[in-house]
Amino acid sequence: MEAMLYEKLSDNKVKCLVCNHYCVLKLGQRGICGVRENKDGKMFVLNYGKTVASSVDPIEKKPLYNYLQRTNTYSFAAAGCNMRCPWCQNYSISQSPKLNNRIEGTEISPKEHVFRAIHYQCPSISYTYSEPTIFLEYAYATMKLAKDEGLKNIWVTNGYMSKETLKLILPLLDAANVDYKGQNNVYEKYCSGDALSILENMKVMKDNSVHLEVTTLIIPGLNDKEENIQSIVNDIVTYLGTDIIWHITRFFPAYQMKNKPITPKKTLIMAEKIGHDAGIKNIYLGNI
Ligand code: SF4
Repeated sequence: MEAMLYEKLSDNKVKCLVCNHYCVLKLGQRGICGVRENKDGKMFVLNYGKTVASSVDPIEKKPLYNYLQRTNTYSFAAAGCNMRCPWCQNYSISQSPKLNNRIEGTEISPKEHVFRAIHYQCPSISYTYSEPTIFLEYAYATMKLAKDEGLKNIWVTNGYMSKETLKLILPLLDAANVDYKGQNNVYEKYCSGDALSILENMKVMKDNSVHLEVTTLIIPGLNDKEENIQSIVNDIVTYLGTDIIWHITRFFPAYQMKNKPITPKKTLIMAEKIGHDAGIKNIYLGNI
């Protein structure tokens, strides 16, 4: 379908407004995410209505620990991501449009997703597993129907959506878990993106009463030194205050990072102490 957020430029080029990459695409080109394409001077989204994963999960698995506790959340994804993290546990769906040059998925309508959520007695729908920003149109259509049925909408996201996307979804967004990797050099070298945009987006969510929880994956050799973690904590506290819920998760080798060791438990405990010392009360250790 034609994309919701883009600008037409001269020479049949288009500028995508969905995430902070703001890709400018010539005829026939696809964006960094691999699922948005310039066709005849218009921008089309290629993963609309194509579900690549769906499940009913405990909400704590998102992870959201302080929201609709002990309920299940109906979860689904379409293929693609605007980042390329080499440790991605879900790379087979997040990177498949780029790795296989194919947009995989089963046709499932937004209405059908809402029907399934109600059928499985889930009070919420989570847009998760890949990156919901990249399937904005599909998520947005589902979020509107879900809201009409009294369901809550949850994004599990890297937080790198554009201001335009955030403005569009905010009235429909009830809760989010944002992955904050910290430190620009990690984003620039490994993921593509920048820390500041993500911090600002998280602040907008929080200021607009979206229930927000933040997750940081601690990876040996990347962001596991005391000064790295201190810097992440400073960012979180500066932008979000100390009443934020912070999940510190343990890395397990995956995708292109099978050569790294599992994060030692003592590193997670050090991170927890740094967070507590800075005043963050709600800290949870994950994957241990
Ligand atoms: S969603 Fe982001 S990565 Fe994809 S085309 Fe748009 S600006 Fe580029």
